[in-house]
Amino acid sequence: MFCPECGHPLESEAVKFCPNCGKRVIAPAAPETVEETPLSASQSVQEPAEPATRSKLCTAALLLGAGTFVFAVLTLIARMLDLHLMALGAVATGAFFLAPLACCFGIAGIAVRIANRHKRGLPSAIVGLVLGLVCGCAAAYLLLARMLGL
Ligand SMILES: [Zn+2]
Repeated sequence: MFCPECGHPLESEAVKFCPNCGKRVIAPAAPETVEETPLSASQSVQEPAEPATRSKLCTAALLLGAGTFVFAVLTLIARMLDLHLMALGAVATGAFFLAPLACCFGIAGIAVRIANRHKRGLPSAIVGLVLGLVCGCAAAYLLLARMLGL
């Protein structure tokens, strides 16, 4: 800011008197800060509201993907313990049931995120989709390998 009388540059806005001409400096910033306060207050209210619109599809995809992962791990444990084919098939069926749901919700969540930039949860949707695909295939492989006697 500059002195309104002589144009001498002032070091800070807290300076009350011009060091060059000695004229009293009235800070023009004072009324502006009063106007800015309600603006910034309304902004801070709006900003947390937008991230709150987290897509439920993405959360659902993540949960279903995690569920598929759990069933795939159970299938792997059943395979390693060499359990009966029925037991292996039962846990693998859980993965087969959840995997397509995780993929569908994951794709839907990604589509919603692309359509609406304010929606959050893209990482959840991707993780859910990948977990559903990988763990569904892993469970299918484990069951087929057991059935074929590999
Ligand atoms: Zn001055």
